[in-house]
Amino acid sequence: MALIVQKYGGTSVGSVERIQAVAARVLQTVKAGNDLVVVVSAMGKTTDGLVKLANAISTNPNRREMDMLLSTGEQVSIALLSMALQELGQPAISLTGAQVGIVTETEHTRARILKIDPDRIQRHLNAGQVVVVAGFQGIASTDDLEITTLGRGGSDTSAVALAAALQADLCEIYTDVPGILTADPRIVEDAQLMSEITSDEMLELASLGAKVLHPRAVEIARNYGITLVVRSSWADDPGTRVLSSTPQPRPLEGLEIARPVDAVEFDTDQAKVALLRVPDRPGVAARLFGELAQQQLDVDLIIQSIHEGNTNDIAFTVTKNTLNQAEAVAAAILPALSAGLESNLNPAETLVDREIAKVTIAGAGMIGRPGVAAQMFTTLAAAGINIQMISTSEVKVSCVVAATDYDRAIATLCETFEVTSSPRNEPGTMDPGDQATGSPPSAPLPPVRGVALDLNQAKLAIREIPDRPGMAARIFQLLARENISVDMIIQSQRCRVIQGATTRDIAFTVAQADADAARKALEKAAPELGYGQVEVDPEIAKVSIVGMGMIENPGIAARMFEALSLQQINIQMIATSEIKISCVVSQDEGVTALRTIHAAFNLAGQERIQVPA
Ligand code: ADP
Ligand code: ASP
Ligand code: MG
Repeated sequence: MALIVQKYGGTSVGSVERIQAVAARVLQTVKAGNDLVVVVSAMGKTTDGLVKLANAISTNPNRREMDMLLSTGEQVSIALLSMALQELGQPAISLTGAQVGIVTETEHTRARILKIDPDRIQRHLNAGQVVVVAGFQGIASTDDLEITTLGRGGSDTSAVALAAALQADLCEIYTDVPGILTADPRIVEDAQLMSEITSDEMLELASLGAKVLHPRAVEIARNYGITLVVRSSWADDPGTRVLSSTPQPRPLEGLEIARPVDAVEFDTDQAKVALLRVPDRPGVAARLFGELAQQQLDVDLIIQSIHEGNTNDIAFTVTKNTLNQAEAVAAAILPALSAGLESNLNPAETLVDREIAKVTIAGAGMIGRPGVAAQMFTTLAAAGINIQMISTSEVKVSCVVAATDYDRAIATLCETFEVTSSPRNEPGTMDPGDQATGSPPSAPLPPVRGVALDLNQAKLAIREIPDRPGMAARIFQLLARENISVDMIIQSQRCRVIQGATTRDIAFTVAQADADAARKALEKAAPELGYGQVEVDPEIAKVSIVGMGMIENPGIAARMFEALSLQQINIQMIATSEIKISCVVSQDEGVTALRTIHAAFNLAGQERIQVPA
């Protein structure tokens, strides 16, 4: 007999018939001899409807009242599902977040779970009841019972957190697609089902726009080693398994706010090549990285900064022993790349730097916690270490620093984040074959597992930031204080001298909903911090590819850029981490860009995925 947590999303409980179908499935699982906790979302688009009501009354509704409102949706569906089970003769009881003791932070509308008291659920299970729990909600304290919600899509997180607290054998997420697909089937119609994916890959995909799983649910599954499966509530097919390696045991206290950083990693075998003032037009990145791939040169970090006028800067890192080759490639194609540029006043040029090192903080606990990256920058600044390149992913922040600074950087970061070891960053060590499931890997890891599109981001650029240690720290602290999560931070390679002082630009992306607040906060601090204009562009799309197999697999970036170039899509920003590459393109090209890269990596298949209306 197993203890199973099942979660059913909005579409799966969208009508009376659907609720009855879910009840039948639940009954089947109970009859097979399992104890069952069922988490449900609000019916259909109920939550969207509630948000609309609030917005009709206030442009900036009070967040506590928002939680009071939004949490009602789930209360409807738990009661109805419980009744449907009782109609089938199955004892069941519905419980709210408060009733099962899901205690969260006080951060209304985006609260993290602190702890769950399993006693009451256990009592009902022992009495032979199915326990139906309202997803997405909790309470800020057991004294005043203030209702909180976890953020949109948060029922997945409720389910996995309950599975962790109850030490369940399995957590199943039932939704309206057959599992995790290579792309959103609503956008890419030949997207294919994958039978498994590592939690690292899924974390990236989820946070880059694949809303099939809430990223925090993946984080909890990864931290606590929960067996997680995503499958359709319309069919009996096995769906997709999300694989996590067996984690270190960790306490359930502080469930979602445990230590944000698990490791400080470093790589001293890196060298940097920067191309300054290359033309801002489709095909440039494709050409450059295509040539590098042809020479079998493995590129690690790539960043392309915002353009100023009609030129861009692109910088990338390679291993030290391939620097000369990489530099030669860059120098050889520079004239061809720059052909047709009107101004020869500031011609394109290549810069190389062999004396660099990469330091990285890694940990799933940094998701949605903007303060963590800021803390890294602050720590480096306090040690007087200048940051040359920044690259971020949802679970990693990497900084390129001078080689002479790297041992100090490691020491100070380990101290700040209270991690003792600093394992050398060895990509490719994560083998899904020796996962908790014990199953051997079914095939070599594909270089690209899936693609994702995010249309809800905005791009911000800050011009002419004084180039000295501590500036990135202060800027991102400022945003962290406003609780604004920043993605794709890119610092320009090019310096500009203004009144005798060297300056650089920094560009980054934030959620569109945060863009205004970010601009206001930055503009307010401009006089004190001494930078120039703050520019906002909400008309962007971020397209990303994710896959463990891209580590040490040259040519993946080139193939992505080439595909975009063939469609004449201009790349505005590029940011990479070990297992993902993201490009910012203009919003109206987002869908085409996604379909193009999906096809370029041969992710399409024959099977047509049906999505229920
Ligand atoms: P639920 O209400 O069950 O939580 P969601 O709407 O939150 O469902 O998530 C399921 C939806 O996620 C799918 O209908 C699909 O459109 C979308 N989606 C986006 N990316 C992917 C992907 N890579 N695989 C599967 N579904 C995806
Ligand atoms: N009902 C909530 C929402 O629509 C939570 C969820 O469905 O996961 O965001
Ligand atoms: Mg969802």
